[in-house]
Amino acid sequence: MKKRHLRGDILLIGGLLLAAAIAFACVFLLRGDGDSVRVTVDGELYGVYALSQDVTVDIRTADGEANNRLVIRDGKAQVETATCPDGICAAHYPIFRDGESIVCLPNRVVITVVTAQSGDAPDVIA
Ligand SMILES: [Zn+2]
Repeated sequence: MKKRHLRGDILLIGGLLLAAAIAFACVFLLRGDGDSVRVTVDGELYGVYALSQDVTVDIRTADGEANNRLVIRDGKAQVETATCPDGICAAHYPIFRDGESIVCLPNRVVITVVTAQSGDAPDVIA
């Protein structure tokens, strides 16, 4: 009797884990693709670039010292090269889903995927 009980518990826990995994997958997959990336340097808007257009942007900070090269290719944005010492931003996988971002802390550069629907209309191309 006790053994049977245990098996029931395992099935129940397994079922709950499966349900959680499916819910998580749905939330992740339903997250739409963004249509552009917004770049800020030190909190200031640097530019908005459409993901539909292949482009290379050298993001320079105000003092002209730091430089992150943003490359948009095949609808994905990625930091190709960066002057920051840690290189975390350049190692980041390409982003394209709404809300994803690449942050370069040393250079204070933030690249975030946005969509027109999320209120960040990309009608200003800097
Ligand atoms: Zn960096």
